[in-house]
Amino acid sequence: MSSKYSPLQDIKDIAESDLAAWLSQHDIAPYRAGQIFRWIYHRNAKTFWEMTDLSKTLRQWLSQRLTISHLQAEKTQVSRDGSRKYLFPLTDGHHVESVLIPEGDHWTLCISSQVGCPMGCRFCLTGTGGFIRNLTSGEIINQVCAAKEALESPHPLTNIVFMGMGEPLANYENVLKAIAVFLGSNGLQFSKRRVTLSTVGVASAIDALGKDASLNLAISLNAADNATRSRIMPVNDAYPLDALLSACKRFPVPAGRRLTFEYVLLSQVNDSAEDAIRLAGLLKPFRAKINLIPFNPFEGSPFKRPPSETILAFQDLLIQHHFTVLIRWSKGQDIGAACGQLRTNALSRCTPDSGVSDTNRAMTGNRVF
Ligand code: SAH
Ligand code: SF4
Repeated sequence: MSSKYSPLQDIKDIAESDLAAWLSQHDIAPYRAGQIFRWIYHRNAKTFWEMTDLSKTLRQWLSQRLTISHLQAEKTQVSRDGSRKYLFPLTDGHHVESVLIPEGDHWTLCISSQVGCPMGCRFCLTGTGGFIRNLTSGEIINQVCAAKEALESPHPLTNIVFMGMGEPLANYENVLKAIAVFLGSNGLQFSKRRVTLSTVGVASAIDALGKDASLNLAISLNAADNATRSRIMPVNDAYPLDALLSACKRFPVPAGRRLTFEYVLLSQVNDSAEDAIRLAGLLKPFRAKINLIPFNPFEGSPFKRPPSETILAFQDLLIQHHFTVLIRWSKGQDIGAACGQLRTNALSRCTPDSGVSDTNRAMTGNRVF
């Protein structure tokens, strides 16, 4: 095969337009790309042989050149609040975690974009665990495919948030390809209003994203002055607040939509009244919604969650400045599934008897891993 795709490349790593171009180089009608995508993403085909409206010759030709990957959870934990954390083994022996969160009549899936994270935020367990590698676009997409398959309940998976392990804008190309599948009419057909990318604030990539994709953007601000932000988020040295907020101003936000700013509340670090007032000043020029995330603790962390009165007072001050402010009391804390609690080497937490997936056991509150 004279192509840039080596034998048995994962079709989920190939953009639909690239697949169409590649097929047409081989004298196969490019519209077949859409047909193949629909088999995979609408009808969940796991082999080319299932694609019965393609000729046998074409099915064989594709099977000899491409594969259709999927992820299968090795372990599932269910929280008391109904959240489910999935541990997926990857082909190279690493693992990645995703979290399904029940929200009224629908589910939100929190997906990972990297194994570990290179950004090193001090309050984040993923960040303190180091970086292993980027996920392929297939590995990102397959977290969503697996969650959709696992949901037997009548409530559908409608929302996707890039808030699991990793910094999505540090794995730009693969994340972009995955977003195209999430939103595409031949892909998974999620609404662009229901897909959110959360970033630590890689300003240059925010500009690129504004041109390349249309989805919700959330910025993990976490501090309202450079000294505090640099202390807890090393990325702030490369992209300080003025560079970050300028990129946010340039980001195209459709009418009726808002940027989200996330703010992890750390006791005595960024939770004072002065911090709230400074934050209100910084965000004044934006159509913004603020999500306050009380710190989710993990072993060995030097930070503490502020007392509830402090959290509520911080919220009140921002409300007085006319912002919409939600406090995100993260779900799934009892299973280590809350924001910032996912970790790189999930297997290191396995108990000796945790070799089998056992949802029921998790439901009774025992540790599965
Ligand atoms: N890398 C991206 C997305 C993953 S982190 C980002 O940083 O935005 C998702 C969210 O979890 C971010 O807003 C981050 O600030 C927050 N977070 C990280 N560690 C946390 C912790 N221990 N407690 C509460 N929120 C945390
Ligand atoms: Fe990475 Fe986000 Fe954690 Fe920072 S908060 S270390 S960017 S996952």
